[in-house]
Amino acid sequence: MSIIVQKFGGTSVANADKIRAAAKRAVAAKQAGHQVVMVVSARGKKTDELVRLAAEMSEHPAAREMDMLLSTGEQESVSLMAMAVHSLGEKAVSLTGGQIGIITDSTFSRARIESISTDRIRKHLDAGEIVIACGFQGIDPEMNITTLGRGGSDTTATALAAALQADECQIYTDVEGVFTTDPRVVSEARKVSLLAYDEMLELASLGAGVMHSRSIEFAKKFCVPLRVRPSFDEGEGTLIANTGEQRMVAGLALARNEARVTLADLPDQPGVTSCIFACMAKRKIPVDMVVQNVAVDGKATVSFTVQEGELADTLTAANEAIKILGAGTIRSGTNVAKLSVVGAGMRNHSGVAAQMFHILLKKGINLQMITTSEIKISVLVERDRCDEALLAVHEGFCMETAGPQTPEIGIQQKTKSPECDQSEDQLLSRIVSKLAKMEDIVVSEVQLDESQSRVTLHHIPDVPGTCSEIFTTVANKNIMVDMIVQNVSDTGHAEVSFTVQRTDLENCLKLVEELASKWADATVSYEPEIGKLTVVGIGLRTHTGVGERMFKALADANINIQMINTSEIRMSAVVAADQGRTGFEVLNKAFNLVEEA
Ligand code: ADP
Ligand code: ASP
Ligand code: MG
Repeated sequence: MSIIVQKFGGTSVANADKIRAAAKRAVAAKQAGHQVVMVVSARGKKTDELVRLAAEMSEHPAAREMDMLLSTGEQESVSLMAMAVHSLGEKAVSLTGGQIGIITDSTFSRARIESISTDRIRKHLDAGEIVIACGFQGIDPEMNITTLGRGGSDTTATALAAALQADECQIYTDVEGVFTTDPRVVSEARKVSLLAYDEMLELASLGAGVMHSRSIEFAKKFCVPLRVRPSFDEGEGTLIANTGEQRMVAGLALARNEARVTLADLPDQPGVTSCIFACMAKRKIPVDMVVQNVAVDGKATVSFTVQEGELADTLTAANEAIKILGAGTIRSGTNVAKLSVVGAGMRNHSGVAAQMFHILLKKGINLQMITTSEIKISVLVERDRCDEALLAVHEGFCMETAGPQTPEIGIQQKTKSPECDQSEDQLLSRIVSKLAKMEDIVVSEVQLDESQSRVTLHHIPDVPGTCSEIFTTVANKNIMVDMIVQNVSDTGHAEVSFTVQRTDLENCLKLVEELASKWADATVSYEPEIGKLTVVGIGLRTHTGVGERMFKALADANINIQMINTSEIRMSAVVAADQGRTGFEVLNKAFNLVEEA
C-alpha cells in the first residue's frame, strides 16, 4: 500500500479549526487508500513563547533542559490532532520522537538523526491507524530528548518519508508553495511549480525560510518527492524532485542576520585555512562566503560570514585559531545581509553574475563580498538596504513573470548530456547505501579541473559598479567566468579573483588590464595554470566537518589554497597547478572514495 507523509507547520495547526482541517486532510488521504503518517509542529508561536519563558528563568539555560522544554510544544499538537482524527471516526495514535525510535546524536538544540526504526510505525499503520508524529525531536542514545534545530519538523517529515520509503512527502504550510523569494517580503514573488533538489538545497541553506535545509538533504539523498502545499486551500503547491529543467534564475534568498569576520595578518603557509575551519567545526559553526586573499608581504587574510547569532562563538573559535597559528588579528561587523541568486541553469551560462552586479549598481548598492558556486551567486550588502537589493534583483531578472531564459549579457556555453545526470544519480545511491547514519555526510566525488587560470585584480575602488564593470566587460566578450570571490574592504579598496578557461586567459587579461589602468593603484596578477579541486556531495556547507576534512587533507599534503568557494553541493579550492594531482589523491583518500583493489 502507498505511504504518504503529511507535515503540518505551526500556523497550520494554530487553533482548533485548523487542527480539524489538517485532520480532515489526513483522513481523506487514508480513505483514498493510503497509509498516512502525519508530522506536526508546535501550534502557532508556541516554540517562541517557550524560548521567551526560558529566558526569564536563566540567561544561559542548559541546552538539555531547553530541548526538554521545546519538545513539549509538539507533544501538545500531536495529542490534539489524534483527538481530532478520532472524532472524525478514524483510528489514530500520537507518538513522540522517542516513541517512534528517532535516534539522534547528543548535540542539543541542533541534533542530527542517526537512525529511525520503522517497526512501531509500520505496526500501527498495518493496524489501520493514522500515525501522528511529533516533529522536530528525537532521543539520544542516553534517552535524553533532543531537538533538531528551529524549523526542524520538515526534517522529521522527510526523514520519516525516507525511512518508510513513502510515495510522497507533503509539506503543508501557510503559503501556496515555494516562491521565487519570500512572498511576505516581495509581493510580486511568483510561485514556482517545480524545483530541482539542488536548487532547493541552496535556497534553503542560503536563507529561504520556507523549508529546513536539512530536510532537503534527506529528500535528495533518499529520492523522496517533496511537495510544498498550502494548508488553506487545494492548491497543487511546488514539487521538489529531480528535474531536467535548467532555469537560469530559479529563486532568491536573503539572509538578513549575517555577520562578517576577517582574520588578517596570518602566516602565509599551508594549514591556515585548515586550522580556522577546524576551530569552527569543533563548535559546529557553519561558515559561508569564505574568501581567501592572495597573500601580500607574506601575510594572508581570510574572511567569511556566519549567522549573527553565532558571532560570539565564532569570535571565541577565531581567537583559538589565532593562538594555534601564533599570529593574526580579528575584525568583525554585523550590519550586513547576504543576498543569493540560485538557478540550475547557471551551470551552463555566463552572464548571470554580471547582470546581478549591474542591477545592484543601478541602485548604487555596494558589494562588500562576493562568492559564487556552480548554481548560486551570493553577495554581501549593507543590511539597511537589503530589502531594496532583493526587490531590485527580483525585478531585474523579471522573476514576477516566467523570468528571463537567457541573461542579457553573455551567451550559452557548454551543454551537459542527460546520461551524465543519470550516472550522478547512480553514484549517489551507491554512496547512500553505504552510510552508517542517516544524516552522515554524503560526498560522492572529488573532481580536478586543470583547464582554468586565475586572474586577480588588486586594489580596485570599493564603490558600487566596479565588479559590474569587470564582469560585464568579460561576459560581453563571451568569456565564461567560473569562480568569483571578492573580499571585504576596510581601506576603501577591494580585491577580486576569478577563474576562466586557460584558452580565454589572454583575451581576458587584455580586458582587465585596460580596466585596471583606469583605476589608480589597481594592479592585475594571474596564474595561467591552476588546479581546481572540488568535493561534490549533499549538505556540504551545513555539515561543518566537510570543510574541516577537506582543508586538513590539503594542509597535511602541504598544499596552499588560493581561492575557496562553498555551497551545499560543492566545495572547491584553487591550488597551484603542480599540486592538483596530489590534492586530488589526498581528497579521495580523506573522503574514502578510493576504490578498493
Ligand atoms: P511552517 O510553520 O509551516 O513550517 P514556516 O514559517 O517555517 O512555516 O515557512 C513558511 C514561510 O516561509 C512563509 O510564510 C514565508 O513567509 C516564508 N518564506 C521564505 N522564503 C520563501 C519562499 N521562497 N517561498 C515561500 N515562502 C517563503
Ligand atoms: N516548533 C519548531 C520551531 O518552531 C519546529 C518547527 O516548527 O518546525 O522551530
Ligand atoms: Mg517551518
